[in-house]
Amino acid sequence: MSTLRFKALETLPFKDFRRDNSIEIPAKLSELFCQNVFSEETMREYLTKEAFTSILDAIKKGTKIQRHIADQVAVAMKDWAMSKGVTHYTHWFQPLTGSTAEKHDSFFTPIEGGRAIERFSGGMLIQQEPDASSFPNGGIRNTFEARGYTAWDPTSPAFIMGTTLCIPSIFISYTGETLDYKAPLLRALNAVDEAATNVMQYFDKNVTKVTPTLGWEQEYFLVDSALYQSRPDLVLTGKTLLGHSPAKGQQLDDHYFGSIPTRVMNFMKELEIECMKVGIPVTTRHNEVAPNQFELAPMFEEVNVAVDHNSLLMDIMARVAHKHHFHILFHEKPFAGVNGSGKHNNWSLATDTGENLLSPGKNPKKNLQFLTFFVNTIKAVHEYADLLRASIASASNDHRLGANEAPPAIISVFIGSQLFRVLEELEKVTNGKLSPEEKTELKLNVVGKIPEILLDNTDRNRTSPFAFTGNKFEIRAVGSSANCAESMTVMNTIAAKQLNDFKKEVDALIETGLKKDEAIFNILREYIKQCKNIMFEGDGYSDDWAKEAKKRGLNNLKTTPEALKQEMDKKFLDLYEEIGVFTHREVEARNEIKLEKYSTVIDIEARVLSDIARNHIIPSALNYQNRLIENVKGLKEIFGDKEFKTLAKEQMSLIANISENVSKIKLGVEDLIKARETAKAMSDSQKQAENYCNKVKPLFDIIREASDDLEMMVDDELWPMTKYREMLFTK
Ligand code: ADP
Ligand code: MG
Repeated sequence: MSTLRFKALETLPFKDFRRDNSIEIPAKLSELFCQNVFSEETMREYLTKEAFTSILDAIKKGTKIQRHIADQVAVAMKDWAMSKGVTHYTHWFQPLTGSTAEKHDSFFTPIEGGRAIERFSGGMLIQQEPDASSFPNGGIRNTFEARGYTAWDPTSPAFIMGTTLCIPSIFISYTGETLDYKAPLLRALNAVDEAATNVMQYFDKNVTKVTPTLGWEQEYFLVDSALYQSRPDLVLTGKTLLGHSPAKGQQLDDHYFGSIPTRVMNFMKELEIECMKVGIPVTTRHNEVAPNQFELAPMFEEVNVAVDHNSLLMDIMARVAHKHHFHILFHEKPFAGVNGSGKHNNWSLATDTGENLLSPGKNPKKNLQFLTFFVNTIKAVHEYADLLRASIASASNDHRLGANEAPPAIISVFIGSQLFRVLEELEKVTNGKLSPEEKTELKLNVVGKIPEILLDNTDRNRTSPFAFTGNKFEIRAVGSSANCAESMTVMNTIAAKQLNDFKKEVDALIETGLKKDEAIFNILREYIKQCKNIMFEGDGYSDDWAKEAKKRGLNNLKTTPEALKQEMDKKFLDLYEEIGVFTHREVEARNEIKLEKYSTVIDIEARVLSDIARNHIIPSALNYQNRLIENVKGLKEIFGDKEFKTLAKEQMSLIANISENVSKIKLGVEDLIKARETAKAMSDSQKQAENYCNKVKPLFDIIREASDDLEMMVDDELWPMTKYREMLFTK
């Protein structure tokens, strides 16, 4: 058999090299931890006291690093890196392409007299100018200045990959506009730090800094690399555009938390070793719901570092998978009919006094603090739900949201029935001043009861896009291929705005003569009333919820173009400007980039699908049909006109059936080509994306259905595309 499918299958399961890539994990993983990170520990060893203090201040307090200090840090970094065999350095950044970018420069510098030295200065550490004209910029760099530069982010530690020193950096244009994911995230993190620290003055004046925390959970698929290579759709689009679902999928739920196949285990072990070295604190690994789907999660970290670590992890995963003859799929929906992959973002706020602000405390005072941050978070999501929705929008995530495997596109908040009842109690708080009896009652029986309640609160709702899980909120709708920075920028921006507003409102009530606690209770009561419509405890996957949500006035932005349209709402533009995260221009540019990306993704899928359908599927179907025709002709020859009709009945019906499906594909592809051309010619990005979404994409289904039907008819030996069962069940 000459097709790629059979060549790939031949290399498969019996070859030892695919199985025996056995990896030993050292007994003490902890000894590997941060081996390749310019960590606080390493800095203490390599830096002068002055430089060390100054760097710590920059990290913890955001102070500026003096040039002579940067020079010292650069030399220390270089010495440390060279001691580990490093020869090059790069500013490591996250442009809006969605992957990480690096441009390696050598430490090696020729000097006079035919000599050379290894050089790395403060200037080189602080700034680098990548040839970045091909990164997406939504028109920003074209109009203003052709160049952008990367700048060192000292709050995320430098690390070594291979023989390169990687320096986490932001990427901005010379006119000051951000061109990456990190720069706006840092702005949002600063804003929420300031806002939350201000609010914390009501409760604990010792708090001088609040750091948002993020613990992501990364889901992914592994496919044998030979099988991956045999599927042009996987290679070119990251997902299968065709393929009949296998007889056995995930119906038995036998993969979830089942034992991990040896070959995958070896991949995971090596991955964990690599993660440890660069300081990614991965702690859990397990199978996911779908066959060949897995998940890993780290200990949570400060948001900025956690985001960098997730991006870095995705790079490392791809590389390690390759060594184990796997290809890793981060696409949200690589296979129809089996669950797709997500990336839950667990979010909370931590103080520099060691408290988690979303963790209920041991006394009524701490619990009022908890309720304050808890209710304010719900209020923030209530006010800016559409923005949160837009932050997780992508062509690939559209396949997951609302498909009964991931939360719907309706943003709602789940808090569990017990906390819901607490909020209902708080809703009854008297307007204005509270009587001493009411205060006592609130303290003892409402606020005071929270920790007890939560202890036995095993309430979990896996169908909610935004769920409270005991001491953090979990944003469950983020796609597996997304950069966490997008949802985290929105989350922290809206939290900052909300906490600022809260502070103003409480202060205003205190001005009128209310006590602090009374003022807080009064404001929280109003918030709870306003947010009632977004709180939902039931099954988010059900159709009833979609209807109910509509009644409640909640948006159901099912597709990326719809979600991105909302992003340009004046309310959101003003919010970003007020909090100092994005200028109008930056939002516009990013919106444009996302729309273009959406259209491009659908356009590529359309082209790949047309190609496969016409050049692989139709010829194979006709090939098989010809065999059937030969067979029928033969029967006729042997048995004569009358008898053959009975004998060849099934074959003839198959022949007709094949023709029907072939013609469906042919017409479908012709329509698809026309629709694509129309969409491609459109100049307004919003309209173009809508066109791709509503006019181009639906045609995929027609072609796919006919092709998947053919897959069930055509001789397995003639079918050119590697089948789902082969990709999903090869271990
Ligand atoms: P699951 O949601 O799968 O039941 P866990 O309760 O174990 O999982 O937590 C999932 C993630 O939540 C982990 O990545 C963990 O680091 C993260 N997490 C725990 N506490 C916090 C916190 N305070 N802030 C942010 N993330 C957190
Ligand atoms: Mg989770």
